[in-house]
Amino acid sequence: MPHLELRNLEKQYASGSDAVKGISFAAGKGEFVVLVGPSGCGKSTTLRMIAGLEEATGGDIIINGKRVNDLAPKDRDIAMVFQNYALYPHLTVYENIAFPLAIRKEQKSTIEAAVHSAANLLSITKLLERKPKELSGGERQRVALGRAIVRSPQVFLFDEPLSNLDAALRTEMRAELKSLQRRLGTTMVYVTHDQTEAMTMGDTIVVMNSGKLEQVGTPRAIYDEPASPFVARFLGTPTINMIAGKMAADSYFEAGNFRLYIPSPQFAEGSDVLLGIRPEAFAVASAGSTDSSVVSGTVELLERLGGVTNCYITSPIAERGRIAITLSDSDALPAIGDELRIIPRSQGLHLFGKK
Ligand code: ADP
Repeated sequence: MPHLELRNLEKQYASGSDAVKGISFAAGKGEFVVLVGPSGCGKSTTLRMIAGLEEATGGDIIINGKRVNDLAPKDRDIAMVFQNYALYPHLTVYENIAFPLAIRKEQKSTIEAAVHSAANLLSITKLLERKPKELSGGERQRVALGRAIVRSPQVFLFDEPLSNLDAALRTEMRAELKSLQRRLGTTMVYVTHDQTEAMTMGDTIVVMNSGKLEQVGTPRAIYDEPASPFVARFLGTPTINMIAGKMAADSYFEAGNFRLYIPSPQFAEGSDVLLGIRPEAFAVASAGSTDSSVVSGTVELLERLGGVTNCYITSPIAERGRIAITLSDSDALPAIGDELRIIPRSQGLHLFGKK
């Protein structure tokens, strides 16, 4: 039995905006689910409906086999962490963490034990007497986590909790949060617009677009087998290269002079299709190759990232008129303005119907 399940969840705001248009997915106990998608696609609204902060206008929210739509937020046994942390400025760190237990009227000794255990887990024991304004962003983040942890909820709901941190701290907290969630074994729904967070943290990724679900799967499946051009474009940097063309005779994809053999195409000859090729799925063509799938272009931009270099070449066959290719250390690096000839490898190619 899933631990958390959404069945056809919908939200139409009073203003008429159709924020969520029938979302369904299930999470097992202890699963880390990431809701990802561009700004405005309905992620926060979905999370707030699970929390009970927004009323669903359709569908069911089921926690532990029980429909919770009609329960007040405090009776759903969930803990939410917000982007702005929402700490009480006049309370100390200790009091902030203790707050949910204090309003539940827990015994003083129970509260003390819970706060110290959470503080220990988060390495903030020495900060317990401080006020939030005396803390760094990362420390405030930990206090907010502590406040969620002491409740030992059924489900954690996190809304972009790392977006106020600087890049280095974000990377560190990403790993820390993930391992913390593993240790606690608490089911997690985590909202982000950041594809790297989604790929690195989620056991399962739910990709949303305009209030609808585009694809649900493991990070691997979402990256390797994107169900739509939207999903393919959303994950991966540089963005996947897209080439619009047609299926020609003998299993060839064709766009201008570019012809690529597709082993078992799902599309009939004459169909309009979109070919997606990941930047790492291009190789530098061997000198003198006359293969019909060689693409030649002028190097426009190089991004040296250390281990690999992203290289962008002009190409009229591709979307936005350029193709990104990821070069490794073993490739000879071209210079800006050079002509570079590249060729798709046999993996990392995705064919989509034009519709
Ligand atoms: P995301 O979290 O993916 O950025 P949201 O769930 O915040 O998206 O918003 C989804 C859509 O619902 C957006 O079009 C947004 O403008 C709209 N929306 C969000 N909150 C409200 C609200 N309180 N009243 C009316 N419309 C809202």
